[in-house]
Amino acid sequence: MKNSDFRQWSRRAADWGVDYRSSLRERPVRPLVEPGDIFRSIEPSPPEAAEPMDKIFADFEAKIVPGMTHWQHPRFFAYFPANAAPVSVVAEYLVSAMAAQCMLWQTSPAATELETRIVDWMRQALGLPEGFSGVIQDSASSATLAAVLTMRERALDWQGNKQGLAGQKRPRIYSSDQVHTSIDRAIWVSGIGEDNLVRIPVTGRFRAMDTAALEAAIVADQAAGMLPAGIIASVGGTSTGGTDNVAEVAAVAKRHGLYLHVDAAWAGSAMICPEFRHFWAGAEQADSIVFNPHKWLGAQFDCSMQFIRQPEDLVRTLAIKPEFLKTHGRDGIINYSEWSVPLGRRFRALKLWFLLRAHGLEALRTMIRNHVAWSEGLAARIASEADFEIVTEPMLSLFSFRHKTAGDADDHNLRLVNAINDDGRLYLTQTRVDGRVAIRFQVGQFETTAEDVDTAFTVICDCARSLRN
Ligand code: PLP
Repeated sequence: MKNSDFRQWSRRAADWGVDYRSSLRERPVRPLVEPGDIFRSIEPSPPEAAEPMDKIFADFEAKIVPGMTHWQHPRFFAYFPANAAPVSVVAEYLVSAMAAQCMLWQTSPAATELETRIVDWMRQALGLPEGFSGVIQDSASSATLAAVLTMRERALDWQGNKQGLAGQKRPRIYSSDQVHTSIDRAIWVSGIGEDNLVRIPVTGRFRAMDTAALEAAIVADQAAGMLPAGIIASVGGTSTGGTDNVAEVAAVAKRHGLYLHVDAAWAGSAMICPEFRHFWAGAEQADSIVFNPHKWLGAQFDCSMQFIRQPEDLVRTLAIKPEFLKTHGRDGIINYSEWSVPLGRRFRALKLWFLLRAHGLEALRTMIRNHVAWSEGLAARIASEADFEIVTEPMLSLFSFRHKTAGDADDHNLRLVNAINDDGRLYLTQTRVDGRVAIRFQVGQFETTAEDVDTAFTVICDCARSLRN
């Protein structure tokens, strides 16, 4: 592509992005497509000859966009949000244009040094004490994997990478059943094995780990000759916002010399508001914490921040230093690829720098406070309808509910989720609470307004009442 064409098509792409964002409210949140529709619309073989950009762009608009689920839609109430504030998109354009590999300080000094600064900005913004450093990973899954590998290596006196796990004492990791499945995957991939992920029963409204049961499990494992290695606490679990009492969990971790990792992938963004910090009181004692600015805060995916108390342990676990990656003659530099599983790294700090400067923390706090208040308001409205029940009360901006029926409640509520999503005006998802289907609702999209949440109430009630039992 010639530079003049690059300019033209970059402008066209930017214009398209603005038009797309402004048209979202008129689009169904989920596409009206069947599995295989898009696959069949794409040529089965690659072209031998170059095609004109006009045609490529037209195909993008005709074939791809109608098949997209619109995560930036203001009535996206499913899963957790993946907010990409326009200013972070602009930063990503710049990152794409530079297309740098930011694995070492010398492969991108500015990316490395901005990352160090932005991690510290976020530490301050979330009210965490000095003493944490950190890294921006691609995803919370990667951050948790890095934490689990560090737990494993620390417990095995740094012999796991070298000798493997055969013949070693069995490392044991403890969590509730409210943690995200990325924890299960980290346990599999680290070779620790699912049988060594000890699920601690939960108690109370927030389904917090029973810390007496946690302590008992650790003591029993020690007595049985196993090797307690670490604990993973949840703050804002994916299903219903399950949240551990981190301070109590941290006390147990300290008593037994265990590594503590806190997964606050979604809820962490809310900690920019001091009044929500009680939800993770004790996190300041953790060895590592992960939160995803790419969820609620508005930094375009991917952007997952991992705060780390002792980066030396992480580096000792993950760093590889072949000659071709060494930086000779420079002291005191950070090579962030030594802090993560992949070697290659994107420049992720730029979008956070743009976002935090262009919005300021106070505007971001207002957004999060609004979301929490609107979610609580909607939960109260639903609770006051005789044919609905609240299954789990709001944890920040996430709650779950069920429509009552004389028939099979699980089947009825699954049909209700489908009916709501087929209507197109909103998108939400279901979960299971104590084995029974419940409908999840979270408010978190950057552009959502109080009116969008009102619309959600109308759509939910209309769809429920027009379903036949
Ligand atoms: N932890 C929690 C609580 C989550 O909700 C999610 C994803 O929704 C993850 C971890 C995994 O996040 P990622 O997609 O960044 O790996």
